Amino acid sequence: MRVLSVVIPAYNEEDMIERVCTSLKDILTGEGIDYQIVLVDDGSKDHTWDRIREAAAADSRIKGIHFSRNFGKEAAIFAGLACAGGDCMAVMDCDLQHPPETLVTMYRLWEQGYEVIEGVKKNRGRESLFHRASAGLFYKIMSNATRMDMSDASDFKLLDRKAAMVLLDMPERNTFFRAMSSWIGFKTKTVEFEIRERDSGSSKWSTSSLIHYAVTNIAAYSSLPMQFVTGAGVFSLLLSLILGLQTIIRYCSGHAVEGFTTVILLILLLGSIMMISLGIIGYYIAQIYDEVKKRPRYIISRTTDDPERPGEDGETGRDIELKETQN
Ligand code: UDP
Ligand code: MG
Repeated sequence: MRVLSVVIPAYNEEDMIERVCTSLKDILTGEGIDYQIVLVDDGSKDHTWDRIREAAAADSRIKGIHFSRNFGKEAAIFAGLACAGGDCMAVMDCDLQHPPETLVTMYRLWEQGYEVIEGVKKNRGRESLFHRASAGLFYKIMSNATRMDMSDASDFKLLDRKAAMVLLDMPERNTFFRAMSSWIGFKTKTVEFEIRERDSGSSKWSTSSLIHYAVTNIAAYSSLPMQFVTGAGVFSLLLSLILGLQTIIRYCSGHAVEGFTTVILLILLLGSIMMISLGIIGYYIAQIYDEVKKRPRYIISRTTDDPERPGEDGETGRDIELKETQN
């Protein structure tokens, strides 16, 4: 019997844990699919971990992982994949915005021999105009950088074990699941799904965390900002040629430019171009520094397989599974 592992990252989703487990159980059991659910608590501040423990105690097919702090959705996805034992692994959101029914379609495609099945958004759900515009720009840059159409990509995917292992073997710290799972290739199929309204709670992304996420991923996958530095250099070279020529002509004709206005403007313009360029280069250096430090992507403080010791939380030492994250 082949097993489907469903990896679910959860951050402050106490209301959703039980609902998502029941709805997966109903649908997958109804379809006769053998499954395992891996819930990854991304350092939640509410009772998510208690709910996960209760769910795991009630059903042996449910497994829980608890991070020592909030490491972000990407880290949670990778931790879940590393702990999942199934023959194929699906990743879906905890808020039921990714319909579990689509999971069945994905599973059937996997049975037909597809190795990477990607969920593609049919609609974008309710979003503000600003969000829509900035997401549009972000995906345009990312699609350009990865040479894949990412505009409707989502994290809702089903991967064959082989494909998931390839992803886990990738050495980079700064991961972008959406792009990486397309980049690895394999026999791929896309499945369209409707984004539902969030069942309960609110989106866990603040505007600043989205901007940070976008900037980091653009820097990780694209050298476009670096090309801006070159572009700015070429622009100021052209400007200096024109101004230089004009200055010489004026000097020769006896009308040298007077006053500091031009000088001040030039210093300000060139100064800001240089500062911005240094900032961009500095950002890339910071990213390289982050990668060479080789810190683990996440730290697991406890799992539902461990016997719980009351009173202890965020424990270090034996419980910390750095093995798969450190090499
Ligand atoms: N999530 C997470 N860590 C975070 C933020 C979000 O594990 O730091 C999870 C969250 O619990 C949910 C999924 O990622 O299961 C998608 O989050 P959300 O619904 O807030 O994002 P949106 O649907 O608004 O893109
Ligand atoms: Mg959501």
